[in-house]
Amino acid sequence: MNPFLREYYNQPVFWRDDYGSDEANLERVRVVAEALPQDVRSVLDVGCANGKALLALVRRGSQETLDFVAGVDFSERALRKFDLPRVCGDCSSLPFADDSFDAAICLEVLEHLPQETFSRTLGELQRVTSRYLLISVPNAEDLRRSGVMCPKCFCWFNSSLHMRSFHEGTLYALFEPLFVLSAARLIGPLDRQYWLPLLLRELGRFLLEPAPPAACICPQCGYGRNKSINLSTLEVPSESGNSNPTSSFLKNWVFRAWPKTAKRRWLLALYERR
Ligand SMILES: [Zn+2]
Repeated sequence: MNPFLREYYNQPVFWRDDYGSDEANLERVRVVAEALPQDVRSVLDVGCANGKALLALVRRGSQETLDFVAGVDFSERALRKFDLPRVCGDCSSLPFADDSFDAAICLEVLEHLPQETFSRTLGELQRVTSRYLLISVPNAEDLRRSGVMCPKCFCWFNSSLHMRSFHEGTLYALFEPLFVLSAARLIGPLDRQYWLPLLLRELGRFLLEPAPPAACICPQCGYGRNKSINLSTLEVPSESGNSNPTSSFLKNWVFRAWPKTAKRRWLLALYERR
């Protein structure tokens, strides 16, 4: 795992006790738990973070049917937040034998991965599960709209370091030809965005609060933390690194303000091995 990404996701602000405890996220993990087939007896959560999904799985009333659950995450800080079997590791090199689990789940992880890690992770997910894959990602995320501007070097970057966006078409065929889509649905709150409030919000944010949120480290210049780090190997989202801050700001501002249709926040897909 790239050292910058390890540092980024280990920031304490990500792993507050209440992280992921808002109603939308709690509902999301409940839906995920219900979507897992009842004949699953062992589950690996790849990128389990603070264990919210694993805990929901255990609570869904399937203690009788689930023999074993485990989580993998590279953030030791996140893994301290729950008390189920878990291992600190890299999602692109899972420390488990082939077909070790009936199902592997990977929730809100794939969008964060640089290309090489992403490709290897897809392979690892397929390798460790004997039957099912359950995946969730942001639904048709517009990476520009969740961007923030670095107050030091003025580049724009995605505040969650999301590096790719998924649509129904790209997600559903992701594990072909070994796995076939079994079920899929759009989940989460219906996010609506209107032109005028969005415009005012963005204008206000730029004028009054130009700095990124506390959990952001600029991938171009490192703003947001004190020590320096070699960022030359980091793959950053495509909207980052514009050398002209004025045109970058105007382009993103206009792009963000454009009216968009409402959509569900996440995509959930269940795959079964052919
Ligand atoms: Zn910067």
